[in-house]
Amino acid sequence: MEKDIQNIWNILLKNVEERINNPRTFDLWIKPVKLLEINDNIIKIEIPSLSFERNFFPFIGILKEEFYKISGVMPEIEIVYPIESKEEQLHSFELSLNPEYTFENFVVGPCNHLAHAASLAVAQSPGVSYNPLFLYGGVGLGKTHLMQAIGHFVKSKSNIKIVYIPSEYFVNEFIASIKNKTTHIFRNKFRSVDFLLIDDIHFIAGKEGTQEEFFHTFNFLYDKRKQIVLSSDKPPKEIKFLEKRLVSRFEWGLVVDLQVPDFETRVAIIRKKCELRNLSLSDDFVFYISEKIKDNIRLIEGILNSLVANTLLLGREINKILIDEAIEKVYNLKKDEKKYINLKKIIEVVSESFGLTPEDIKSEKRVKNIILPRQIAMYLSRELTDTSLNSIAIEFNGKDHTTVLHAYKKIRNLIEKDKNLKDIIENIKKKLIE
Ligand code: ADP
Ligand code: MG
Repeated sequence: MEKDIQNIWNILLKNVEERINNPRTFDLWIKPVKLLEINDNIIKIEIPSLSFERNFFPFIGILKEEFYKISGVMPEIEIVYPIESKEEQLHSFELSLNPEYTFENFVVGPCNHLAHAASLAVAQSPGVSYNPLFLYGGVGLGKTHLMQAIGHFVKSKSNIKIVYIPSEYFVNEFIASIKNKTTHIFRNKFRSVDFLLIDDIHFIAGKEGTQEEFFHTFNFLYDKRKQIVLSSDKPPKEIKFLEKRLVSRFEWGLVVDLQVPDFETRVAIIRKKCELRNLSLSDDFVFYISEKIKDNIRLIEGILNSLVANTLLLGREINKILIDEAIEKVYNLKKDEKKYINLKKIIEVVSESFGLTPEDIKSEKRVKNIILPRQIAMYLSRELTDTSLNSIAIEFNGKDHTTVLHAYKKIRNLIEKDKNLKDIIENIKKKLIE
């Protein structure tokens, strides 16, 4: 198959992965899918078996939509099966590393040189220099890239057992192991590694059982001088609902941040990404994009991916119009995300609508003029986002998840009877979507 087509497929998969936002689901139901060809608007794929299709079905729509987002063309999906289906494939998946996230492909600038140097140091001599290494910084600044670069490096140089996982996956596996009464297997799995990389560790905050389990895993590995690397959007002390004993352990080694890249670094990153995608972009355009997108490299990547799809797949020529279109597209996507996932914004808008502050809404105060808005905010959080009850409860200063469920049901019932309240809530929704 042509390399360009494979490139587009890789981009598509990456976007689908981000959208699904659940590594386990992605690995189970998207990874096994094999691209056979893309012809006009038909994507021909092979899936492992007939029984696979049932579960794969819901993802077809996502594949189509994501393809549409990068190319502007709504495709048809044609599915074929191999002659011999390999069910066992499904059970033996391993969370793999993105081949692009290597040290070679990481651009070093003043914003990240310390994080880079520290990552390289632990990759070269695990358990010796900084333990744990704690990387933190905003979205899209390269934390996952660096962690996976460590993974690639260590894998290529030695046979030690190294595991990279997003902490969400750690949490899910832990919960599943409790349910299946296999916590001993879970425990052994993580305690038998030589090098543990856990991405987005802040996700375990507020989850007591998992924090407890992780605390013991951490101590076990640390005592054996096994290397641990963690990443988060904030430094340990600022992670809400993270147990004190974990905060202090996370600070034992080196805590280092990744900052927003300056203009020159952004230019170098764009050039690197173009090179990897076989995309030739004139200096003017590279500078233009660097000026427009300042604080999140992931958006830059979205723009380049869209350019690749438009030029290689649709044969369009790169010009300012196409670039502006691509920029607008990633910004709209970003807005969409905001619309649906931001609990903070819901709390802000609701409190503003009732003349309260976000702190009031999140407080323990049991006065009537606060209770109702609080319940409305909880209701909207449940309705407009995919956030779990537990995570919503945490956002509301650690209330119990049953409180959220109660609020949700109560407001849902009230809306049916009370036209006034319904209007109020509709208005708030409108403001949120603006
Ligand atoms: P984070 O985990 O901090 O949210 P990622 O590691 O996922 O961010 O980075 C987002 C995208 O930006 C990735 O595609 C990554 O390769 C790219 N990126 C970020 N920083 C750099 C860098 N310094 N050099 C090259 N690519 C980078
Ligand atoms: Mg990340």
